Amino acid sequence: MCAAVSAAASVCSTVQAGLDRYRAITKDDRSPVTIADFASQAVVARALRAALGDDLVLVGEESSSFLRDPAHAAHLDAALDVLRAGAWPGVTAEALLDAIDLGAAEPPPTDAPAGFFTLDPIDGTKGFLRGGQYAVALAFIRAGRPELAAMGCPNLSPDPARGADAAPADAGTPGGCLFAAVRGSGRVVQSPLGASCGRGGGELLVTPASRAAFAGARAHPVLAESVESAHSDQSASAILMRELDAAYGLVRLDSQCKYAVVARGQADVYLRLPSKKGYVERIWDHAAGALIAEEAGCIVTDVDGRPLDFGHGRGLEANRGVVVATAALHARLIAAISAHRPPNA
Ligand code: AMP
Ligand code: MG
Repeated sequence: MCAAVSAAASVCSTVQAGLDRYRAITKDDRSPVTIADFASQAVVARALRAALGDDLVLVGEESSSFLRDPAHAAHLDAALDVLRAGAWPGVTAEALLDAIDLGAAEPPPTDAPAGFFTLDPIDGTKGFLRGGQYAVALAFIRAGRPELAAMGCPNLSPDPARGADAAPADAGTPGGCLFAAVRGSGRVVQSPLGASCGRGGGELLVTPASRAAFAGARAHPVLAESVESAHSDQSASAILMRELDAAYGLVRLDSQCKYAVVARGQADVYLRLPSKKGYVERIWDHAAGALIAEEAGCIVTDVDGRPLDFGHGRGLEANRGVVVATAALHARLIAAISAHRPPNA
């Protein structure tokens, strides 16, 4: 999982480094993220398939139909070029399209013994396009909850002391971070992207104790939330955080990097408060990040205090919003959310 995510993250970094060039190829502002999204899913799917053969069940965010449309031939060619330059030298168009479609599985029922993978090949597309944070997020889900997670954050500094939104380049260590977690292990392994999950040196072990020690040096809690106000009700977050501590700090980041930032102790709370009636969160937007935060000692629930339930298909149908925090803060936040809610809401 880690090697697959690492290879995909490297493809994404290459495209992000040439945003203007990719925009020019297709005369479309969003084309760089489209190209990188498809290439990333293909790289991860191909690696998982090589490891697991026909046993692979992968629920990816993307399908190949966009690239199969002759009107999007320029996107297809650009994705092939990126892959041929490194991650998949001999790739053909058919092989690329078929690899993307390995991610077309439907989530199996919760009681299926085997489980499945879910992938967001680029989480935080808006961050990717503005040169900010994004993540390649892969998780293995069984019985409705993530059991394994590998998440690449190419623009997140490996040094937590540098501040939550410091870029790796600022820290003089380009390459970003890879986070890996196994349910029940009580630890998250952070490795430099490109190394293979704790075996290449330079890793940082995040545990509930290390997290508490790091965060405990701060006088006031820090909130992590989306940059996009359409994805979370930022004014409601501000009201809740002011009730915790009027002097709270704030960091806005795109993607599931927010979970990693809370896991490392750079932030204490991640709030995703429903801003659009009826929106259902997608499993690939949360599975990897949620496990990473939990293994670092945080509680992850929805706004009603219910655990996130990944056993309802592609959406978190049984949940609304997300609240991530250490136990003490989490209990206070859920109580405050409930106190603010009008009866019958
Ligand atoms: P973030 O980078 O945390 O703002 O989240 C990016 C993710 O938000 C994308 O992958 C989308 O799937 C998801 N998203 C899109 N619309 C909404 C919405 N109305 N509320 C919450 N999340 C959304
Ligand atoms: Mg996403």
